[in-house]
Amino acid sequence: YVEELANLRDAAHAPALTSDGKRIEVAGNIGTPEDCKSVLANGGDGIGLFRSEFLFLERKQMPSEDEQFEAYAAVAREMAGRPVIIRTMDIGGDKQLPYLQMEPEENPFLGFRAIRLCLAEKEMFLTQLRAILRASTYGNVKVMFPMIAIVEELLEAKALWELAKEQLAARQTPFAEQIETGIMIEVPSAALIADQLAPHVDFFSIGSNDLIQYTFAADRMNQKVGYLYNPGHPAILRLIDKVVQDAHAHGKWVGVCGEMAGDPLYAKELVALGVDELSMTPTSIPKMKQEIKGMVVHSN
Ligand code: PEP
Ligand code: MG
Repeated sequence: YVEELANLRDAAHAPALTSDGKRIEVAGNIGTPEDCKSVLANGGDGIGLFRSEFLFLERKQMPSEDEQFEAYAAVAREMAGRPVIIRTMDIGGDKQLPYLQMEPEENPFLGFRAIRLCLAEKEMFLTQLRAILRASTYGNVKVMFPMIAIVEELLEAKALWELAKEQLAARQTPFAEQIETGIMIEVPSAALIADQLAPHVDFFSIGSNDLIQYTFAADRMNQKVGYLYNPGHPAILRLIDKVVQDAHAHGKWVGVCGEMAGDPLYAKELVALGVDELSMTPTSIPKMKQEIKGMVVHSN
């Protein structure tokens, strides 16, 4: 059995092609720079989701630009040219920060969270964006904004991204010329207006954990409503189908980085719907690459 696992891991270092020849990018989700080792050992093609929250939680002060830069650059360096998608902070909801004045909310998961908080705390957000930009000279860095619900939020986030570039340029600090920008599709409104969002991004990454939670109005942590939490339900698959169609119509690629991406049962559906990248817990990568070899892309 151990030998079988070793073989699976070895085979995972090759690209994953479906039986009709489409390359599916199989990437890893990470929460700290140390997790890169596991992604590489398991044959991951890159980092599909770097949850940057670890830098901000359980501490008394905001992490400085330099401290953030070190963490992002470490990942970019270690991944040696493979894509690294850094998600800007997804704080709020149940995750509180002692150094930010945050009022208690009745419905934290419907409240002041992620991009909503970042667009209000502009200095904090710009600091993170500058750190990501600086790290871009060390590898293939992409930036991704979480919880986008409407076009205006995306445009505001992108304006701040451009402002962060100007600030670095004024400091004569280098950053890569071409950096892909994307958003998470995890709020149903975003899936429904994917055609309007697509022109403004390079890629979408579907956050199925939240997309399922918000589509069924069912708390993802509450077992009593767990029967509603069904990634294979037509309500979810129709949303994903629309997102892929709209993205491809604009020449943009689509990944999935929620839990369903790492489950072979659902991954098959996702590949058939035309999803281009799957990002998952690193240890799920070898099995997934093997599964993909038997899959067929029915649509585009
Ligand atoms: C998701 O919502 O599917 C996702 C990947 O983000 P997180 O689990 O960090 O909310
Ligand atoms: Mg999410």
